[in-house]
Amino acid sequence: MFRSTSIILCGLVLSPLTSAQELPPAKATAAASVDAHAAALIDASTRIWEWAELALTEHRSSALLADMLAADGFTMQRGVSEMETAWVASFGSGEPVVAFLAEFDALPGLSQKAQVSQEARVPGECGHGCGHNLFGAGSVGAGIALKQAMLEHDLPGTVRVYGTPAEEHGIGKVWMVRDGMFDDVDVCLSWHPGDENEVDVLPSKALRSFEVTFSGRSAHAAGAPWKGVSALDAVEAFETGVNLLREHMPESARIHYVVTAGGDAPNVIPSTASIWLFTRGKDWPEQEQVFQHVMKIVEGADLMAWGEEHGDLAAGFKPAQVQMFTGLYHYNPNHTVARLMHRNLELIGPPDFSEEHHAFARGLQENFGLEPLGMHAEVRPFDPDPEPESGGSTDVANISWVCPTIDLSVANWPLEIPAHSWASTAASGSDGGKLAMLTAAKVLAASGIDVLTHPEEVSEARAEFERASAGFPYVSPVGPEDAPSLPSHLRAN
Ligand SMILES: [Zn+2]
Repeated sequence: MFRSTSIILCGLVLSPLTSAQELPPAKATAAASVDAHAAALIDASTRIWEWAELALTEHRSSALLADMLAADGFTMQRGVSEMETAWVASFGSGEPVVAFLAEFDALPGLSQKAQVSQEARVPGECGHGCGHNLFGAGSVGAGIALKQAMLEHDLPGTVRVYGTPAEEHGIGKVWMVRDGMFDDVDVCLSWHPGDENEVDVLPSKALRSFEVTFSGRSAHAAGAPWKGVSALDAVEAFETGVNLLREHMPESARIHYVVTAGGDAPNVIPSTASIWLFTRGKDWPEQEQVFQHVMKIVEGADLMAWGEEHGDLAAGFKPAQVQMFTGLYHYNPNHTVARLMHRNLELIGPPDFSEEHHAFARGLQENFGLEPLGMHAEVRPFDPDPEPESGGSTDVANISWVCPTIDLSVANWPLEIPAHSWASTAASGSDGGKLAMLTAAKVLAASGIDVLTHPEEVSEARAEFERASAGFPYVSPVGPEDAPSLPSHLRAN
């Protein structure tokens, strides 16, 4: 493997780093660039982890990463696609075009110190339980490294880093795809923090996120309940209908919800109540089938709450309002790019975790009720035909229907630690998590070099993409009039 001696940065022992001498020349340059920028990348990931900014309000995190790329000579487009925190950084010109993605939003309620036991940094505040602090900084490192290799080795093409906000709400990339920002991309190389080192071709589920707001009519809940209409009743009737639907859905479909407004006091019949839902399916058509059924349940719930007063003539009647937040397609993994990326993951090798990193991981695992297995210190063999498993959704999937796309996972978290937990927040701020981020940056940059220098593989990836998307053209789930937005209770904060 490609190892060298330890160096110390920012008080962290980064041991050992990839040896530039043992890689092909352009990849050695890229790896050396990541090592040279390691302190700045680690510092950026730490600051973003501490700031822990929520979707569409990631102002400091977004600016920090954009400023790093601007300072390195990238051309910046800031505030794109109606989002102040979205940007595109570009270097080079012409084909091929390689895209890296940088996420940076945090999750509510997951504040946590970078330690093995559960303790909030600031109780009730946000935390980086999905590791987007590492995701963003690692991708910036990859962009800078690829640019350096292009300069030193006279490589053709363009490298772009996309600052994609609000991933936790599946928003940023959906609007950027709507606006055609990926239309000329040859290959999109993404990554995400995980608990294993692997390139996988597992699909993700399609999803719609929407909020239904029912209207009623307030009255004294004891004195004159017959004069009121409860919007909360409509929500409850709606939930019942949705839960009855579950028995008859395809196995791979999902519905989940939270009540976002249910009235203010028991003695006032609620005149408004809201529920926020996700409908999911194994693919977009299956999800749409479930979604359309749920829309019928909305009408039924309105009718149940209003009874004979249902209709335009009743005093105060207002039909339920449905606000769409986003639509995510199922993922279309490109196997040609997956093999290219896997080759580079093996070339760079897994993060070389120290005994302290493993000990920290074991502590976290024990405190989370898991086997103390430590960190994943190998590369999982590429599996071209994995067993589909129950999984989530991602807005990277929308990109995968407009250009060949693949996702790398690197072990920033201890084995089996789930995303969106206090433990993944702790791991995303840990030394081991940051070391693995540098591995991700090197693998992405090395893969980008292959995209720029292997036109035959780019053609093969494009041909595979055309086959996979034949008869399934991408239709944006959001229209030109739709603006990125969040559910009402999050907007209020
Ligand atoms: Zn994530």
